[in-house]
Amino acid sequence: MKLNQLTIKQAYNGLKNRDFTSVELTKACLQRIKEVDNKVKACLTICEKQALDQAAKADVMIIKGEQKFLTGIPYICKDIIVTKNIRTTAASKILDNYFPSFDATVIKKLNQVGAVLIAKSNLDEFAHGASTENSAYGPTHNPWDLERVPGGSSGGSAAAMAADESIFTIGSDTGGSIRHPSSYCGVIGLKPTYGRCSRYGLIAMTSSTDVIGPITKTVEDSAIVLKQIAGSDKFDSTTVERKILDYHKEIKKNINGLKIGIPKEFFPKELDKDVEERLQDAINQFEKLGVKITQISLPHTKYAVPVYYIITPSEISSNLSRFDGIRYGESEVKEQNSKANNLLDVYYQSRGKWLGAETKRRIMLGTYALSAGYYDAYYLQAQKVRTIISNELKQELKKVDAILTPATPHPAFKIGEKKDPLSMYLEDVFMSSASLAGLPAISFPVGFINGLPIGAQIIGKPFDEATILKLAHHYEQASNWRKTKPEL
Ligand code: GLN
Repeated sequence: MKLNQLTIKQAYNGLKNRDFTSVELTKACLQRIKEVDNKVKACLTICEKQALDQAAKADVMIIKGEQKFLTGIPYICKDIIVTKNIRTTAASKILDNYFPSFDATVIKKLNQVGAVLIAKSNLDEFAHGASTENSAYGPTHNPWDLERVPGGSSGGSAAAMAADESIFTIGSDTGGSIRHPSSYCGVIGLKPTYGRCSRYGLIAMTSSTDVIGPITKTVEDSAIVLKQIAGSDKFDSTTVERKILDYHKEIKKNINGLKIGIPKEFFPKELDKDVEERLQDAINQFEKLGVKITQISLPHTKYAVPVYYIITPSEISSNLSRFDGIRYGESEVKEQNSKANNLLDVYYQSRGKWLGAETKRRIMLGTYALSAGYYDAYYLQAQKVRTIISNELKQELKKVDAILTPATPHPAFKIGEKKDPLSMYLEDVFMSSASLAGLPAISFPVGFINGLPIGAQIIGKPFDEATILKLAHHYEQASNWRKTKPEL
C-alpha cells in the first residue's frame, strides 16, 4: 500500500514504529496530488513549502516522544476556513487575493498537535450548493467518474479523500455540505452537533447552522479528528462546554440492543429503487448486529427544504454584506484609473463584478425575505416551522438512540446536468432537518449503484456523536465497501 492511501490510524502506527517519517508521508500525499489533481481538481491552493516545514517539525515531536494521534498527519482543509498567510478564497473571486492574518480555531487545534496542512480544497462559492459547480474556479470532478460531480459544497474535500490525496480532510456543513459529498464520493462525513466545534475562522454562511467537521476514509478516523477539533472557544459564543469523549474508544463498545428509528417520511414511494434497496440491506445488517429497528414518523419533514431556503438566504444576505470591496473583498475601485462616483458604483465594481450567480441569488432572496412587509410572512414563519421540525426530531429521538435515513436521493449526477436552482436545492432533501435542529449526523457508504457509491445517514441526539459514530463503525466493520477504490 502507498503511504498516501493510509488511514490516520495506520499512519499513526507507521510514524510511531518509525516505518516512515512525516516528511515522507507528506511527500507521498503531495506527489499524489501532482499525479491526479489535474483530473480531480479538488485543490485550490497547495502549500508545499509550509507543509514540508510543518512535517519536519512533527518528526521532531515524534522523536521527542510527543506524538499524538494527528502528529505529522497530512490533511486538506476546505477553503472556507481561514489559514494564516495561506490564501483563503471561499471559492469566490471576491476573495481571490485574501491571505488571512489568523488561523481558525480548528486549524489552531490541529496545529497544536502537529497535523500537517498540505492544501486548501474546492467548494461551491461560499458553500452555496450541492455539486461544487458553483466554485468560481471551476468544478471538482468525482474520482469514481470524472464526468460526474462530487456533491457539495465540500466537494473538494470529499473528492480528495476518495482519491487518497491526503490522510484526512476537513469540511463544513450548513445544510448537508459534509454529508452530501461524502455520500457521492464513498467516504465518511461527520457533521458534529451545532456548538460542538468552534466556528471562529469559518467564513460565515448561515451562522445558526454552520458546523465544521471531518471527512475521512474510516469511521475510526472521524472519531479521532472529532476529539481533536471539538471544544468550547471564547471566540465563538455558540460553542458549549460539553464532555469530549475518547471517541475512538467509544466506537468499539457494543451496539447490541441499541434502537434505530426509521422515519417513514424519508422513504417516500418516489424514492429511487436502488437507493431504497441499499438502505434496506443496511437496515438488515444493523439487525444482524443486534440493533432494534422501529418505524417512527416525522410529519414536518416536507417543510425542511423550504424552511432551510428561507433561513439560509436570509442569514447569507446579512453575513455577506461585509464583502463590499471596501474593508473585505476585491474591488476594481482599488485599481488605478478606476472611477466610482457613488456608493452604488463601488458595489457594482466589487459585489456586482466578483460574486457568482448563485451567491447573488441568495443575497436577493434573503434580502427580500427579511424586508419590511415580508419578514413576518417568510422569515418569521420559517423560524416557527423550524422550531416545530426541531422539536419533532428531538421528541422522536427520546424513543430511539438514533435515526437512519438515506443521505442523498441518488448517486452522483453528471456535471452540468442540473440546470435550474430548484433541482439543486432538492439535493438537500435528506440533509436539511438535522441542520435546522443542530443535531449530529454522519454519512457513510452502504454500497454502489452502477459503480457509483451511495451513502446512508444516521442522525443522533444533541452532543451524542459517540452513538452515531459507534453505529457507523460497527456497520463499516461488517461491510467491505472500502475495499473498492476508484481508478484514476
Ligand atoms: N446544499 C446546501 C446549500 O446549498 C448545503 C450547503 C452547506 O451545507 N454549506 O445550501
